[in-house]
Amino acid sequence: LAKVKCSYCDKPAIYYDGKKYYCKEHFLEYFKNLAFKAIKEFNMFSPGDRVAVAVSGGKDSVSLLHFLTKHKDELELKEVVGLAIDEGIKGYRDVTLNYLKDFAKKHNLKIKIISFKEEIGLTLDEMFELTKKYNLGYWPCTYCGVFRRWLLNKYAIEHFDVLATGHNLNDEAQTVILNLAEHNIKDLAKGGPVTGIKRHNKFIKRVKPFYYITEKETTIYSIVNKLNVPYIECPYARGAFRIYVRDLLYKMEHVRELHENIIKKYLSFRDKLQKRYNFELKTCKICGFPTTREICQACQLRLTFQKLKE
Ligand code: SF4
Repeated sequence: LAKVKCSYCDKPAIYYDGKKYYCKEHFLEYFKNLAFKAIKEFNMFSPGDRVAVAVSGGKDSVSLLHFLTKHKDELELKEVVGLAIDEGIKGYRDVTLNYLKDFAKKHNLKIKIISFKEEIGLTLDEMFELTKKYNLGYWPCTYCGVFRRWLLNKYAIEHFDVLATGHNLNDEAQTVILNLAEHNIKDLAKGGPVTGIKRHNKFIKRVKPFYYITEKETTIYSIVNKLNVPYIECPYARGAFRIYVRDLLYKMEHVRELHENIIKKYLSFRDKLQKRYNFELKTCKICGFPTTREICQACQLRLTFQKLKE
């Protein structure tokens, strides 16, 4: 793009969306318009909302925390705080959390760190050692995801009105394809740009302001704003099927249009799916948080690990 000019001014273009060229300033305007479009169309926020942003340390969540903090007044939000979970993964989470703390200081952002060790009594590494010792055959992502979701919901419902996540258009289109391919219709019904409303009084409303923004666009946003996110892969990361679907969608022509079409089609039948799979949420007898069982998965796993530890 070195010699191509922006479609709106004489400055050099840094991005092409398949239709128009954008210089840095016009790219930021385009990015903001896409995020505000999703925020308004799906009623993500109300005036005075206290917003928690789930921050993993990756470019999407860091960009979202930066974006919402920057536009806090325009969106009439009372507060924007990043919530980071310290699972206790040596060589990975300690590094990303150090980066996050520096980043927050530099950009004047608020961050709250919630740790597995303090809340559950064990780090993820310690849990993995126990599952190996007792030959339980659980891969860390299984319990990591359960505890992370439980802790984020628990902390967010106690202190905030909304929990925002950095999922982008690519993530969402991949999730639709994966759920269809695996015939995971209940998860398909649970997805979308806004979830968690009126399902249980202890279930935080979750929103995805980057729903219409591609992965490439969040990467450019993070570069333009010098968010310098180091890429480190979690040592337990797997997910070959998602990577396969991601690469497959990327290889197709008209990438943005293709992802938008998948999402449009999905949104056209999501309400019907939700009505059909109108799963009632119960209240966990131990922690009081929402679940589809008598005792939630997080409490079941917590009890298992506590017993193994003794
Ligand atoms: Fe947790 Fe698995 Fe993600 Fe690592 S890859 S942070 S273990 S869910």
